[in-house]
Amino acid sequence: MKANRVVRVIIGLLVLAIFLAYFQIRASYSPMSGDITGPNWEEYLRINFNMRPDGSLIEEAAPAQEAEPAPAAEAAPAQEAQPVELAEPVPTPEPTVDPASPYGQALINAAARGLPEPPALDVNSWELMLVNAEHSINQYEPEQLAYLNQTVDETDIQYAYNGYRCAVDSRIAENLLNMALACKNTGLPVYLSSGYRSYNEQAANFQRVCQNNGITDGKNAEGHYITMPAGCSEHQSGLCCDITDHYREIKNDSIAETATVQWLAQNCADYGFVLRFPVDKREITHVMGESWHFRYVGAEAARYMTDNNLCLEEFLGLYGVA
Ligand SMILES: [Zn+2]
Repeated sequence: MKANRVVRVIIGLLVLAIFLAYFQIRASYSPMSGDITGPNWEEYLRINFNMRPDGSLIEEAAPAQEAEPAPAAEAAPAQEAQPVELAEPVPTPEPTVDPASPYGQALINAAARGLPEPPALDVNSWELMLVNAEHSINQYEPEQLAYLNQTVDETDIQYAYNGYRCAVDSRIAENLLNMALACKNTGLPVYLSSGYRSYNEQAANFQRVCQNNGITDGKNAEGHYITMPAGCSEHQSGLCCDITDHYREIKNDSIAETATVQWLAQNCADYGFVLRFPVDKREITHVMGESWHFRYVGAEAARYMTDNNLCLEEFLGLYGVA
């Protein structure tokens, strides 16, 4: 009896062991492949148990489904944020400057030379008309001339012809007269010597000065112009005026020592004028120093040129002109 029972228990244990062994093998064996460590095994574990071969749980699948609504949740605030983005461009309309434009070039060139930001000007505007030996204005005539008293004892501007008075382009007459009066009001004498000259008047002037100096090209021994060929004189533009303390038959370097032109040189930018031919710019302007020749360029350009010691050629050169 005891032996039979022992045998049955042993047989029962064997059956149980075989049964367990079968399920253990079944559980650890991929039904897709004969290789229990291959990629299909990984897939089997992942699909059925969300588990890696090393037994760790894969936490991607479940959060991935939660993450999907997340972009939608972000999209919703984005729509709410849109009014903020729309509101921002209104107070920040910063215009972008085309680097190829004259002003864009001026910004680049000024920065390269260590100069402050130049004014945003239209360099083709009448105030900045360039007239020199390389830039003839040919037969140009100002649209309207204004005539000023040669001395500022009388202060009116006249628009009718008077050959004994100084003519300038009417657009600069008021500024010129205000500057002359301000100078006079400091107690200094002011004489408006020469403004507009026609092409023909300049041609006669050029011939006379050349004859008097025994030259033919208008240049002195140093190669600087003492008179300009017709079409190349700034006086033909009507945008300048020779100003001295009183009438002088010959204009020379001694005028630079007079209080009148010294006051004008220091204050002319306030009226939109510049000293056009400073003696230290002769190599650029190719004109001898003319301490009496004041040119209107407008207030902004005059201030920038004066503060930064630039002649008109240098100033326009920043903008790619000249
Ligand atoms: Zn002049």
